[in-house]
Amino acid sequence: MEFEASIAHSAQCLKKAVPLMVKYSVPVTPLNYAIWYCYVLGQKPALNQQLDATLAKLGTCPPHIARQLFDTFLSERDLALFHELSGTFHGAISGVQEDIAKTLETSQDYSAVLAECYAGLYNIKRNNIESFDGVLNYVERLTAESITMQQEAFAFQKKLEVAYQEISELKGALIDSQIQASLDKLTGLFNRGKFDEDFNLFCQSYSENEQRALLFVDIDHFKQLNDSFGHLTGDATLRKIASKLAYHVEGVGAAYRYGGEEFCILASFSSVGEAVNFAQKIRVDIAKLSVKNKEQNKAVHPITASFGIAFLQSDGEKDTLLAKADKALYLAKTHGRDRVEIA
Ligand code: GH3
Ligand code: MG
Ligand code: MG
Repeated sequence: MEFEASIAHSAQCLKKAVPLMVKYSVPVTPLNYAIWYCYVLGQKPALNQQLDATLAKLGTCPPHIARQLFDTFLSERDLALFHELSGTFHGAISGVQEDIAKTLETSQDYSAVLAECYAGLYNIKRNNIESFDGVLNYVERLTAESITMQQEAFAFQKKLEVAYQEISELKGALIDSQIQASLDKLTGLFNRGKFDEDFNLFCQSYSENEQRALLFVDIDHFKQLNDSFGHLTGDATLRKIASKLAYHVEGVGAAYRYGGEEFCILASFSSVGEAVNFAQKIRVDIAKLSVKNKEQNKAVHPITASFGIAFLQSDGEKDTLLAKADKALYLAKTHGRDRVEIA
């Protein structure tokens, strides 16, 4: 029998031989290993035939038949060569041992079996016992364990991937719903809830280097517009004004629908003048808007809005800021509408 195959091939044959020996209740002895190794190798068809016949008849291979098979087909030299392989196996086992040590760190589930094998292998090495059977026993157990572990690790990885995917989708849906919850359905601007959140933060970061402004924007005579042209035209007007606000605040601040036909803007400017110019631009732009009533085939106009601006004077004074902006808006209304007033 030729045992001078590669260590990998030898290991492969042993991996196949061991389960067969277990299956047919054959004791794990060097002589039996030699026979079953040869059987798996398939290079002596007559040995295979006789062993197959024995197994068919007895369901196992008793020691006396094993001895006969060995004497007929194998020699003591084969057994010696087989023993020699154990030295090479020791090297391979050390590698396995290292892997196990690493696996032990990460895998709790297999720790009991692996630790037992690890300790066993360590003892064999340390005591320098020529225990080929012992080594093979551990290899067999480790092989079985690592196959299970690989399968479970793979399944676990798949589960992780699915879980990761699900979590990502959930996270996306959550972000979407959070965004949706902060938007006004009619106009697409931020809603009052989002304003309350943002306004708190906005008022907490006062700086002398900038003018942090709250602008109130209220559509003029909107009730009249609704009454004359209907609610749908009123809605269309709200949407058009909202898109003007969104356009102008980009890069400067944020626009919100405060409620009904009232909007507000939170923005920072380098000066009061810049803030006023900003508001005037929006005001002029709104006055140019044209909204058409389809039923009456008439353009709705004029559409105008009044603006009240107030500036943050110190950290956290949000109620004062709200009251001042509201007062400025009231002034704009009482001074004739379609105008900008500063608190
Ligand atoms: P002023 O110039 O003083 O602000 O007068 P105004 O008519 O704009 O103010 P008022 O508060 O008297 O009326 C606001 C109107 O806005 C009344 C309400 O029906 C209308 N409105 C509020 N929300 C909506 C909405 O979502 N869609 C429509 N079409 N109209 C709305
Ligand atoms: Mg109004
Ligand atoms: Mg109003």
